[in-house]
Amino acid sequence: MKVKLASKHGFCFGVEDAIELAEKTAREAKPGRAVALGPVIHNRQVVEKLEQAGLEQSAELEKLEPGTTVLIRSHGARPETLAAAKQRGLKIVDATCVLVKRAQAVVQQLHDEGYRVVMIGDRNHPEVRGVIGYAPDVIVVDSEAELDEALPRRGKLGIVAQTTHTPEHVGRIVGAIVARPFREVKVVNTLCLEVIRRQEAAVALSKEVDVMFVLGGMHSANTQELARLCIAEGVPTYHLEAWDQFRPEMVKDRTTAGVTAGASTPEWIITEFVRGLEAFEPAGT
Ligand code: SF4
Repeated sequence: MKVKLASKHGFCFGVEDAIELAEKTAREAKPGRAVALGPVIHNRQVVEKLEQAGLEQSAELEKLEPGTTVLIRSHGARPETLAAAKQRGLKIVDATCVLVKRAQAVVQQLHDEGYRVVMIGDRNHPEVRGVIGYAPDVIVVDSEAELDEALPRRGKLGIVAQTTHTPEHVGRIVGAIVARPFREVKVVNTLCLEVIRRQEAAVALSKEVDVMFVLGGMHSANTQELARLCIAEGVPTYHLEAWDQFRPEMVKDRTTAGVTAGASTPEWIITEFVRGLEAFEPAGT
């Protein structure tokens, strides 16, 4: 069938750098002495390859032997986690994306300037859990409905957002916040342009095809966001990890498929999928 690939898709520089550092760490550490603090990125296939190369995974610092190398993933970590790792005598290799590091620094600075920090994001996402560790009592919200209960009644607010959120979503919540009687609201744009470019390309492609495939890890926030945007465009959309999850009924009566991929999806997964789809002849056409 006819397949169109989004003009911007797949690996971002933050993920490329994190994987490069992870591979180097696995190569240079002695066997069993290199551990990533959680999945390096939200992509199962990449994480499995890194494990095969010798980079194990652990969430429990206290179980690691002093001298073990600990890789901090692209989503970053809380300052107390880094301090605990140092205190335990672990060697830290920091693969936190520079944009996540910037968000962490902004949160700290807003707090130092006297703002009550508000982060717009998913409180269960590792990036958000890490970033909010850089100031006390950060308020996390992800919808307008949460504001009444979550926000203080007055004061100065400093707002940041999860890097992978859409400008529209963040803009709506910021709009609802500034409609309240706060003396001062400072918004620092922490959104990732790499993600925004992929979102724009996915929306544009959704208008040209009759089915969309969004490739990426099921836990990848930016991949989930791409799928959500395509669905919002009214095109049937499938969020899959790889070609082995493709089913013929997904393209029944369809002639042109669009493919995009999240920032943590490797090129080989995308190429394999596109080739498989191009060679496929849908029923009913
Ligand atoms: S998506 Fe953006 S913030 Fe996330 S790792 Fe990539 S460059 Fe960094």
